[in-house]
Amino acid sequence: MRICVLGSGSAGNAILVEAPKGYLLVDAGFSWREIKARARRAGFDLRGIDALILTHEHADHTRGLPTLYRRGTTVVASPGTLRALGHRFRRAVPLNGDLELLGLRIHAFPVPHDAAEPRGLTLTSGGSRVGIATDLGEVTHLVMEELSGCKALVFEANHDLEMLLSGPYPWALKLRILGPLGHLSNDAAGEALAGLADSVSAVFIAHLSQENNRPGLALETVARYLGRWDGALYLTYPNRPSAVLDLGTL
Ligand SMILES: [Zn+2]
Ligand SMILES: [Zn+2]
Repeated sequence: MRICVLGSGSAGNAILVEAPKGYLLVDAGFSWREIKARARRAGFDLRGIDALILTHEHADHTRGLPTLYRRGTTVVASPGTLRALGHRFRRAVPLNGDLELLGLRIHAFPVPHDAAEPRGLTLTSGGSRVGIATDLGEVTHLVMEELSGCKALVFEANHDLEMLLSGPYPWALKLRILGPLGHLSNDAAGEALAGLADSVSAVFIAHLSQENNRPGLALETVARYLGRWDGALYLTYPNRPSAVLDLGTL
């Protein structure tokens, strides 16, 4: 299994997974044309996407959905997410718990976020498990339990608390982001990752705010919590793909 975060942040999110039996996309926050261009930049020659899993219905995760659906991509999401997206996607597959897809075992679990039925995911192939949790207001016990044992993670470090509080956002929006159904701060991400560090050897830090965070600051804060951990931290970007991680090498 290889994984690349094609883009991440409030402008759009998409994670490309090369599974044993095809290409899986987790979220499609960009147009198909943009997804293809970014994948090519990362070294993947995509003809199409075999399956798309949506973590929730927010526009920064679903912008490319109508085109991919029309092109015949299998769309998978929680029943609540599918309801929130309306009745246009009749062929979509409801995701309740576990699913076998493209040679991967997919497991979905609830995350606290202000969407209909948002989900975090683990993807397992052979002995390798990747965990994905990118929009969550709080790290619950359940989230920690579900992500423990993962070799690689895509995990949110959305904002620096000081930057958010002193920044330009209106108070209502600041409170939404800070609330239990909002997004994780760099500190909250660092604390959670420190608790998962035993099994994890690679972490993509994701969904960084362009207004309320800086890549260097997010990296530095998370690294401080991880201390002497000897894994690899990767940044993700709003406008270009991340590094490509081959799970077989971990
Ligand atoms: Zn969201
Ligand atoms: Zn989002």
